[in-house]
Amino acid sequence: VFEAVPQAPPDAILGITEGFKACDNPNKLNLGVGAYRTEEGKPLVLRAVREAERRLLADPKQDHEYLNMGGLPDFCRLSAQLAFGEGSAVLKEGRNATIQGLSGTGSLRVGGEFLSRFYTRSKVVLIPTPTWANHRFIFEKCGLEVRQYRYFKQETRGLDYEGMVEDLKAAPEGATVILHACAHNPTGVDPTPEQWQGILDAVRSRSLLPFFDSAYQGFASGDLDRDGAAIRLFADAGLELLLAQSYAKNMGLYGERVGALSVVTSDAAAAKRVESQLKMVARHMYSNPPKHGAAIVAIILSDPELFAQWKVELKGMADRIISMRQQLFDALQQVGCPGDWSHILKQIGMFSYTGLTKAQVENMTNKWHVYMTMDGRISMAGLSGAKCGYLAEAIKDSVTT
Ligand code: PMP
Repeated sequence: VFEAVPQAPPDAILGITEGFKACDNPNKLNLGVGAYRTEEGKPLVLRAVREAERRLLADPKQDHEYLNMGGLPDFCRLSAQLAFGEGSAVLKEGRNATIQGLSGTGSLRVGGEFLSRFYTRSKVVLIPTPTWANHRFIFEKCGLEVRQYRYFKQETRGLDYEGMVEDLKAAPEGATVILHACAHNPTGVDPTPEQWQGILDAVRSRSLLPFFDSAYQGFASGDLDRDGAAIRLFADAGLELLLAQSYAKNMGLYGERVGALSVVTSDAAAAKRVESQLKMVARHMYSNPPKHGAAIVAIILSDPELFAQWKVELKGMADRIISMRQQLFDALQQVGCPGDWSHILKQIGMFSYTGLTKAQVENMTNKWHVYMTMDGRISMAGLSGAKCGYLAEAIKDSVTT
């Protein structure tokens, strides 16, 4: 009965790793997937995470029982606090329903499913152009209608602020708008604080429902509060909103699938009812979330010493990426690569949106064995100082041939 099932197309991002693995050239470089690597090109387990795991293993009370549908309560409370800030009115007034999700993706999916079931004002979800490739599929699979708003301006390789605000002001009343909380993927272009204020005004003018995707808190600037500023601006302004958090990047817990979904409501009673429905959505999809990663996060967020250590390590990762930007920029100058590459320095977070065309990316991969997404995005976190010269040569060759 399954003979007619067609082959699925390779995933735009995960497919790259497969190509990389199959390549036997010694110079090969994987800048496709957004995972942090050390200067030696190795995955990093944070010391704070190791210590939390050690404590978990040493704790005789630990077992492998099911969590509740909504996950680990301490983890949920601490995650909301990390995002909304300690003095947050939302938290004081109990206006948030926060459940544990399967990393960022699963949290977005549960949020989308919740909107599909209970949000009646509009079924339209607006995503930025461009955005993380999975956004469209996640919300379409929830039965929602996905539309786009302008975000990136090719000419300046910066934010198309006017276009974005214009599109938001022309959106259907009540539509959901996906906003990257910081370190926009794939462009690395974030609004300034003043621009966030303008975006907030546009959101208000059409009573849009903001849905923040926060996959990089602390990873962008190295400062958790700074990276949470946009979420806090909207929450403190009294807006109802959704928030998907991921600990994949900022704690390096990629494969543990640990994240959180919050829905901010107008009062505490609504938050309670919303929470009960979020749990139902989880129940129908996967019953309850996994324990290990959330337990690690809860230990780190609740222990002042481990929390402080995490912040240092997080800043270390963010700083290495910032230094990679400078080293790549310098290498491009050194090899005399034509064009203005200052956007590599200006962009924020894990990725750099190089501006390379599809044909140029093909040259990068086929001739130079540099694996990256077709839209010209490279992961700065996968780069090391030793490889900057080679990468700069590859870029030069690709833009000049
Ligand atoms: N949103 C954005 C913008 C992302 O870049 C990512 C990770 N690539 C995610 C969500 C989800 O990641 P995860 O499910 O691994 O937390």
